[in-house]
Formats: sequence, C-alpha cells, structure tokens
Amino acid sequence: MGELFENKLLELVRRGDTEKAAYLKSLDKTILPSFVKRIQENDKTVLREMVVPKWVSWELLYDWAASKKNSSGQRCILCNELSEVGIDFNDKFICEHCFLKLKNMS
Ligand SMILES: [Zn+2]
Repeated sequence: MGELFENKLLELVRRGDTEKAAYLKSLDKTILPSFVKRIQENDKTVLREMVVPKWVSWELLYDWAASKKNSSGQRCILCNELSEVGIDFNDKFICEHCFLKLKNMS
C-alpha cells in the first residue's frame, strides 16, 4: 500500500469514519483491473468511466494503484497462469482475462 493511501485510511479509521474506510479497503474488489492499469498510467479520463466519490482524490487513487504494481503476480484459480492484474474473489485470485470471460457469461 502506498504511503498517502495508508495515511488516509488511518485518518479515516481514527476519525471513526468507517464507511469511507471500508470503501478504501474495498477498492481492490470494486475497481476493474483494466481501470487500475489506466490509473497506474496516470490516465485521468478513466474517471469518466468509473464511479468514485468526490472525497477520493486522484492522488489517492494513483497512490493506491501504484502500490499494486509491485506484486510479482498471482496464480489464477481458473486458468492457473500467473498474472499481474486480476481480482481477489473470496480470497482467491482470478486474472483479468478469466474475470472478463466470467462477466460476459453472466
Ligand atoms: Zn485466469
């Protein structure tokens, strides 16, 4: 986790703002991997396509996304490939490719 993001989360927890704290903690699950990639590339047009509360600054999002870059990849439970981008689903990792396939099927 980036420092800015971590500090913001701590601040919210200290203030007892559990709703906002929970929102930040759930970013991993709520923001699409393809969006994360665009945030990492500092592509602010992504904001037009995703719903982010006003109190969440671009710097905060960018810090959060940047910290996700450091992971060397996780193994997808569906295709068994190592992937940098994907989502955590019930503590299991699903790569972006499989996630999009699942999404299109439902
Ligand atoms: Zn996969």
